[in-house]
Amino acid sequence: MDTKFIKLPDPEGMRMAGRVIREGGLVAFPTETVYGLGGDAFDPEASAKIYAAKGRPSDNPLIVHIADMESLERLSSEIPEQLYALADSFWPGPLTMIVKKRPEVPDRTTGGLDTVAIRMPDHPAALELIREAGGYIAAPSANASGRPSPTLASHVLEDLGGRIEVILDGGEVGIGVESTIVDLTGEKIQILRPGYVTAQMLERVVGHVELDPAIAGPPAAGVRPKAPGMMYRHYAPKGDMMIVRGEGAADYICQKLGECSGKAAVLCCDESRDRYPAEKAVIKSLGSLQRPEEAALKLYRVLRELDSEGVSLIYSESFPDTGIGEALMNRMMKAAGYKVIEA
Ligand code: AMP
Ligand code: MG
Repeated sequence: MDTKFIKLPDPEGMRMAGRVIREGGLVAFPTETVYGLGGDAFDPEASAKIYAAKGRPSDNPLIVHIADMESLERLSSEIPEQLYALADSFWPGPLTMIVKKRPEVPDRTTGGLDTVAIRMPDHPAALELIREAGGYIAAPSANASGRPSPTLASHVLEDLGGRIEVILDGGEVGIGVESTIVDLTGEKIQILRPGYVTAQMLERVVGHVELDPAIAGPPAAGVRPKAPGMMYRHYAPKGDMMIVRGEGAADYICQKLGECSGKAAVLCCDESRDRYPAEKAVIKSLGSLQRPEEAALKLYRVLRELDSEGVSLIYSESFPDTGIGEALMNRMMKAAGYKVIEA
């Protein structure tokens, strides 16, 4: 398949992309979090194509993207009050909410679940595409399954070129980690995936929220994460990655670099960058510890760079896990397969 690569803004290209989705095809598009791979949410064949293009397990449901509140009606007949309160504060924005679905929402889109995940993205091109496409775009991140999520259109081309009809290039995304997912179907509101919208931000609107215990660690026997996607080894760089934390982290990493034979890399911050020997490893800073949002934006791009540089071993410092740092550390821990060294 010949993938059309369209640089935005391009009004005619946008209309064409909307048409492609209405006719059952796939379009990758920018959002404020990461690039999404979109198809018509009410067309089970389109959802099947999304799974196939990504190589994604088909029990891993897709998020349905909408552009206005009126669109909720067709997705669910049981919308809790909290959704409206949270939407008032965070939509359009990086918050995905799970509610009971109507039977008309295809099982293929929700991975066989009787619930549906819904988000209104905060990106003009995404909102325009949703409207052009008829109002409902099912979209996971636009990476090949198991690779870091795309924060640039070139990442999408790398992973999905030749497998989808259109890529809309809107430049670099704004946030760089996927949306916060909350489940509104239980007695208590539960965070299934941390993101830019933190527990504290949610609690200001709806009171106490809980964390899905499965977020804290590696998939363990008997603990099944409620967001099926949290189960898979995501965001994985090709090199073997580990996180080194504690006072002695830099010393430990330097010592290990001295002993290792393959091509190694260090993920660090601006404050510690000079402590690492550039002749022994590829040194990548995610930015200042004072600006965790910058580290979140850079993480996936840097992991992809390390892949293309053929790095086989990655030592990463850890970052403060407050605010967006919680989502950042969640993604870093997954990339590292939860391998942590206390130094
Ligand atoms: P992605 O957009 O690639 O980050 O993937 C969407 C994420 O949303 C995955 O982790 C899914 O498991 C999760 N998700 C989507 N729909 C549901 C749902 N109905 N219940 C629980 N998790 C969901
Ligand atoms: Mg994803």
